[in-house]
Amino acid sequence: MTRLAYLDHAATTPLRPEARDAMLPWLGERFGNPSGDHQVAREARKAVDEARDAVADLVGCQPGEVVFTSGGTEADNLAVRGVHAARPGAVLCTAIEHEAVLGPVRHVGGRTVPVDGAGRVDIDALAAALTPDTTVVSVMAANNEVGVVQPVAEVAEVVRRHAPGASVHSDAVQAAAWLPLPELLGDAGLVSLSSHKIGGPQGVGALVARRGTPLRPLALGGGQERDLRSGTHNVAGIAGFASAIRAVLAHRTETVERVRALRDLLRDGLLAAVDGAIETGTGTETGAAAAERLPGTLHLCVPGVESEALLFLLDQAGVCASAASACASGAQQASHVLAAMGVPPALGHGSVRLTLGWTTTRADVDQALAVFPAAVAQLRAAT
Ligand code: PLP
Repeated sequence: MTRLAYLDHAATTPLRPEARDAMLPWLGERFGNPSGDHQVAREARKAVDEARDAVADLVGCQPGEVVFTSGGTEADNLAVRGVHAARPGAVLCTAIEHEAVLGPVRHVGGRTVPVDGAGRVDIDALAAALTPDTTVVSVMAANNEVGVVQPVAEVAEVVRRHAPGASVHSDAVQAAAWLPLPELLGDAGLVSLSSHKIGGPQGVGALVARRGTPLRPLALGGGQERDLRSGTHNVAGIAGFASAIRAVLAHRTETVERVRALRDLLRDGLLAAVDGAIETGTGTETGAAAAERLPGTLHLCVPGVESEALLFLLDQAGVCASAASACASGAQQASHVLAAMGVPPALGHGSVRLTLGWTTTRADVDQALAVFPAAVAQLRAAT
């Protein structure tokens, strides 16, 4: 059987054993509804409240500012649509946001701000777009495709100067495993998180909404989460999420160092072995200065191949990678991120994203190094 090298941590991460251990009691003997009053309910509420403390430690906020959701998508929707509902006005986001932000921004009639050739938000264009009636500005902490890190704290300052009434939202779904969020996010008032990108279970996440942020709920019901997110809590998921957060905080420094070294090894090897391959976000293809990128992300553009065909061959050789963004059907779509960065379509057609994470080993990198150049050569020979 072919060995598996899972290099798609930006899509989802394997569940950390400590997260599974934290969940198991809530799939068995512990089952309370945290909204109740008796001891079984109180035990569940305690688990949810402890999880709130973990999110607060990760983001640098008060536990009472955490709203548990079903994941990053719901958190992004609640941030953009919830603030807009409470305080209608102009909404802005970068052109490279995840669809979970772009969709809601389009829904409320908002517009996008350009990025430079390396994927960094254009701060001058943002400042020029801000008006007194701007209500939400959404700038992701790190991009899910190319891994570019955004200067969110600087964005928050610019917004405070030009549109003091606006709320700054940052989708930190991809950044949370890697970067210290309090420094990165400055005083952004809204922060989205997703458990399954950091070694926790799928289907749970959080929106941090700092005190004073105008916010209306998306769904009405039992009034859980301070009326902001009705619905019985996913206690098992929340407990697993909290455990994953604790693991991230405990091991982040060494994980970042180890994974960055593996990513660099993979990058150097592939750039040396594949003629014409370019690392996206370095500005090579667009002339922009290189941007900071996440330590686990390697995004390449390979001229002369189609992403889909390359991913197929990699998959056959046991290497799980991805391209721009896969829609729900699994088909590859043209990347709005690469288009916004000005990457020529001929290069973008051959884009591949390899994302490393907490389980990645040298053997995974060696496997990718062994099969990737051969797959490219096979495809190029066939055209
Ligand atoms: N935001 C970003 C940047 C993401 O990468 C993702 C998932 O790919 C999401 C939001 C959506 O998160 P979830 O899968 O928890 O809904």
